[in-house]
Amino acid sequence: MAVSDHPQVVGRVGSWAHACVWACVAVMVWPALVCAQEKGGLTGEKGSSIKLTLRSRAPIAPNASRLEVVEKAVEWEGAETAVIVCDVWDQHWCKGANERLAAMLPRMNATIKALRAKGALIVHAPSDTMKFYEGTPQRALARNMPTAAPKAVSKTDRPAEPRLPIDDSDGGCDCTPQCSSKGPYPWRRQHAAIEIGGADAISDSGREIYNLFHQRGVQHVIILGVHTNMCVLGRSFAIRQLVRWGFDVVLMRDLTDTMYNSRRPPVVAHAKGTDLVVEHIETYWCASASSGDVLGDSSGPRIVFVIAEDEYDAKNTLPAFAKEELEKSLGAQCTFLNGNAKKTDMPGVEAVEEADLLVVYLRRATLPEDQLARLKRYFEAGKPVIALRTACHGFQNWLEFDRVVLGCQYTGHYGNGGATEVRADANAVGEAILRGVSPDRFRSPSWLYMVGPLAKSARPLLIGKCGDQPDEAVAWVNTYRGGRVFYTSLGHRDDFAIPQFRRLLVNAVRWGLDKPIPRDR
Ligand SMILES: [Zn+2]
Repeated sequence: MAVSDHPQVVGRVGSWAHACVWACVAVMVWPALVCAQEKGGLTGEKGSSIKLTLRSRAPIAPNASRLEVVEKAVEWEGAETAVIVCDVWDQHWCKGANERLAAMLPRMNATIKALRAKGALIVHAPSDTMKFYEGTPQRALARNMPTAAPKAVSKTDRPAEPRLPIDDSDGGCDCTPQCSSKGPYPWRRQHAAIEIGGADAISDSGREIYNLFHQRGVQHVIILGVHTNMCVLGRSFAIRQLVRWGFDVVLMRDLTDTMYNSRRPPVVAHAKGTDLVVEHIETYWCASASSGDVLGDSSGPRIVFVIAEDEYDAKNTLPAFAKEELEKSLGAQCTFLNGNAKKTDMPGVEAVEEADLLVVYLRRATLPEDQLARLKRYFEAGKPVIALRTACHGFQNWLEFDRVVLGCQYTGHYGNGGATEVRADANAVGEAILRGVSPDRFRSPSWLYMVGPLAKSARPLLIGKCGDQPDEAVAWVNTYRGGRVFYTSLGHRDDFAIPQFRRLLVNAVRWGLDKPIPRDR
């Protein structure tokens, strides 16, 4: 192998010459070199800990089938933690996959670097390319460990894994036209943007990696790389096997990507397909974390409110509510967009492109096509939406919004002035999103809307009754393009004084953002 083909080495041993020397002497004097590095700080400050917020899914109550998101803060010893960089190849057969990876590489490398500095063992696992690393000390480190027998571990606390939530049977290329997946495969090595430290390891063998972890006393494993639905789950060193071996495994959910063709079921945007696979992993295999925890640059969720109505004073009720209920407890960064008086213009609507959650309170607005297109792009991406009251007839130039996105059919209301008795839907009692809302009934000044029948994809949460009129759902959740949609026909100015209504909105926002819903406040 030519000198210039050697993997890049960083840290104190960062030159090509060093890498070559290491390749020759590694096997003989490896333990001595490791000690030298530790003194030099290559394996991190002593006692350095890694703080993560782990996200997973758990039943809402013992033996319940419905799940909710749960978060847990952990602090791990760097020295007991390993990072597996899964199949971050120099080149994939899919052009789109290469482009998505390229966008992630700088953050991937920064995260690996930060974890290395805290003492974590970094294992580079670019499968099928071990030949490229032949003779390097990093390869020797993984290969020369004494054999350790994994103890059989059975995980009985999780349900059996069903099929993945995306159809990847066509190989998952999302390009037009599709790339050819016929071999020979183009990957030759790990992508050069990922630096390889002198004390890192290189292996694509689960058994080698197990031996190394055993030797080093590794308990926690962070896995990142591609592709979430394939190698990150299925390789001999990847999630399923690591969990079976009993390691405490965490997927870095923002540093991974799926092979998913967005024209295949469930026909959702590519990024949404990745989200769905992450959710699957959090349900059946292991928790996830975000690189923001490692790099310390995570910020609160960005919530954009789109307001244009002239009956309920939403331009005042929503900001007041957000300030009190969302900005502090969620650290949310809220942006309020107000339409003009005629509801024909929404200045600043480009803010939706950066939104993590959209709150919509519009009534018969006729927005210019380009503004409407921005909103439609948001909904098509499967991003979360909270819609209130008049939003079911929110767009005069997009009349099917209620049926398409919200999952209802608005046909009018039962007359002004009549209060609505609100109770939980029988099938929704105990749902996380109704914590602090039901089982107590409450009375809302919002007169009852005719919105039924709901779409099959919608699940009613609250039912309203007004005098002798038939029951109507007044709050439900729906799915659009894989995204979370919450709608309530409540939202009268005076509803904002009702604790259950406020709690319902707070819960809905948390649900939309995939944040845990507290059991009590
Ligand atoms: Zn492709």
